[in-house]
Amino acid sequence: MTRIDLHCHSTASDGTLTPAELVRAGAAAGLDVMAITDHDTTGGWSAAAEARPDGLRLVRGAELSCRWLGAEQWPIALHMLAYLFDPTEPRLAGDLARLRTDREQRAEKIVARLSADGVPITWAEVYGYAAGGSVGRPHIAQALIRAGLVRTTNEAFASRWLGARYFVPKADLDVFEAVRAVRAAGGVTVFAHPRATARGRVVPDELIVQLADAGLFGLEADHEDHSPAERDHVRELADDLGLVVTGSSDFHGTHKTVQLGAFTTTPEAYEKIVSAATGVPVLG
Ligand code: AMP
Ligand code: FE
Ligand code: FE
Ligand code: ZN
Repeated sequence: MTRIDLHCHSTASDGTLTPAELVRAGAAAGLDVMAITDHDTTGGWSAAAEARPDGLRLVRGAELSCRWLGAEQWPIALHMLAYLFDPTEPRLAGDLARLRTDREQRAEKIVARLSADGVPITWAEVYGYAAGGSVGRPHIAQALIRAGLVRTTNEAFASRWLGARYFVPKADLDVFEAVRAVRAAGGVTVFAHPRATARGRVVPDELIVQLADAGLFGLEADHEDHSPAERDHVRELADDLGLVVTGSSDFHGTHKTVQLGAFTTTPEAYEKIVSAATGVPVLG
């Protein structure tokens, strides 16, 4: 059996294993194919490529922070997985750089609000936890844990902390721009956890229809944040629209409990993604 996990984070964003540790852990977990998909960065690609164990195929990717401006007043945030794109393509590289800058400014604002309320954490501490990678709320959660205010990352995402009271939105990339930019860079897009209602509002199916028209390639159906009914729904929608279906762990090391290979993608879907991409090759 070929085990394929197409959504994994490293310390290049909010995972807790370095890119080198991540690929070794992937091989140790019995994966044949793994993707490195850090939030808004390709910063982990070269270290992952250098450390890649023989026998593990590495798909280089990223998870793009996107928004959709629907009919409502507030944009809906969504995540777009992008695979095998050319990281030097200027437009996409510029989009990613802007997203990372915005992440820093936004995290700094969140820390300022917490400090103003007397929470003893600093931007320097949080920035240090990110260690040069894309800054995210899990790094602020780490500071809240250190300060003894919460015990787990999950607790830090409760509404009294980073979930609502101290929530500041990111600027994010228009989702149609994301699909276009990834395609222009020779990559393939898969909509990450499109039905993850626990994280907030989700987009309507009608947007997914429009995204399919715009060049979206697949939908992630099997994900821990989807119920069995949601997984079935996503699979049916993908069938209707001619999109590939993926399953993946969305591994984040100890920032989450899910393990590598907890959900997997079929070899057929994987081969379609690889065949459609022209940006960079799979390694191995
Ligand atoms: P951000 O990207 O800064 O908006 O933070 C969102 C990230 O935090 C997601 O990519 C997840 O990795 C993580 N996350 C979101 N919700 C939770 C949660 N309830 N528990 C742990 N991690 C979470
Ligand atoms: Fe994350
Ligand atoms: Fe995500
Ligand atoms: Zn992810």
